[in-house]
Amino acid sequence: MEADSLWDILIVGTGPAGLGAAVNCRVREKSVILLGAEGGSERLMKAPEIKNYPGFPEISGKDLMKKLLDHAQGMGAVLERGRVQTIYPGDELTTVTRDNRLFRSRAVILATGIQQARLLPGEKDLLGSGLGYCATCDGPIYRGKEVAVIGESPEAEEEVNFLAEICSKVHYFPSYKGQGELKVDPRVNVYRVKPLSVLGEERVEGVALPDGKLPVAGVFIIRDVAAAEQIISGLKIEENSIEVDRMMATNIPGVFAAGDCTGKPYQAGKAAGEGLIAALSAVRYLDKKE
Ligand SMILES: Cc1cc2nc3c(=O)[nH]c(=O)nc-3n(C[C@H](O)[C@H](O)[C@H](O)COP(=O)(O)OP(=O)(O)OC[C@H]3O[C@@H](n4cnc5c(N)ncnc54)[C@H](O)[C@@H]3O)c2cc1C
Repeated sequence: MEADSLWDILIVGTGPAGLGAAVNCRVREKSVILLGAEGGSERLMKAPEIKNYPGFPEISGKDLMKKLLDHAQGMGAVLERGRVQTIYPGDELTTVTRDNRLFRSRAVILATGIQQARLLPGEKDLLGSGLGYCATCDGPIYRGKEVAVIGESPEAEEEVNFLAEICSKVHYFPSYKGQGELKVDPRVNVYRVKPLSVLGEERVEGVALPDGKLPVAGVFIIRDVAAAEQIISGLKIEENSIEVDRMMATNIPGVFAAGDCTGKPYQAGKAAGEGLIAALSAVRYLDKKE
């Protein structure tokens, strides 16, 4: 399919849930694109020995990951490396990646794994009012102004350097390992503390630090894993998991979810099984529309 094709089903996440869903979408002959890490689930690959995945009495996480990837791709699912930043719901869903690629699909399955991202106090309320997740998209709004960037992954450094070119000052708060080798523009102020909250009533006014307030016009938060409600506005979350019904449907039409992102137990077998249900539900949703 062409880059600007309309896919039947777009799946976010290349772990057991996403790949389990992909296999079953392909069995039903739907076109499928998976967006996520090329090598699959970082979590599953950390499992030294899995003894409870049916059909494989003893298998390492790495080997199971390879089998899942080979199976899905062998059935014609297309896998693209990419971090999903935003999904715009609608009759046709538009998915935007962090590097600004656009994908169109008729249904979406979220298989993003455990919800790791904890929102900072103030973050939810100020989103879109001086707070954003993509400097490449929104950076130009802050030309000549002071901004703060909270980076939870080295990928943030590229965004920081872009902002350093256009903003009067960039304050950078990295919170990942390997900060000794930061590759940031010398004009950037680097901090070794974590902001406590984002400040402001109607708009961002600054960030709260352990020793006081840092006034800024804008704040960017760059995370490796975004919370699902950041990806799709209005998505219902309960106890830090995506709320789904028994058919893995979320509260947003055409959007389904499967695996660790829907809650406990956090297990590969449960993830793959929910992937299957989500796939069949997505297929039914598409068939009904036709
Ligand atoms: C040490 C360890 C041992 C384990 N042992 C076992 C075991 O013995 N048995 C068992 O059943 N389970 C075990 N597990 C748990 C198992 O790995 C998980 O339950 C399973 O991987 C969940 O699958 P998932 O597809 O839901 O999520 P994940 O495997 O976490 O995959 C989610 C994927 O989505 C990607 N993603 C997230 N957000 C985005 C985004 N915005 N854009 C693109 N991609 C995104 C992530 O990077 C990740 O690759 C173990 C886990 C660990 C860490």
